[in-house]
Amino acid sequence: MTKKCIYCKSEIHDDRSLDVCNRCGTGVWGEKMFNAILQNMENAKDKGDLCNSNLSLSEPPSKVGNSRISFM
Ligand SMILES: [Zn+2]
Repeated sequence: MTKKCIYCKSEIHDDRSLDVCNRCGTGVWGEKMFNAILQNMENAKDKGDLCNSNLSLSEPPSKVGNSRISFM
């Protein structure tokens, strides 16, 4: 299924989790913020908890504790 940018309706050909193209994303959030959001979505996809993350960029303290345990 082809995804479309929610702002300009142009098609998005990569498999990002965000329905926003680079041009609009940069225009809306700024380049730095947009990259951070994309990165955050990628990380969430890798962990398989995309439904929980919901665009929030701040990690809850409990998650930090968990990752430290699994790291050890
Ligand atoms: Zn767009």
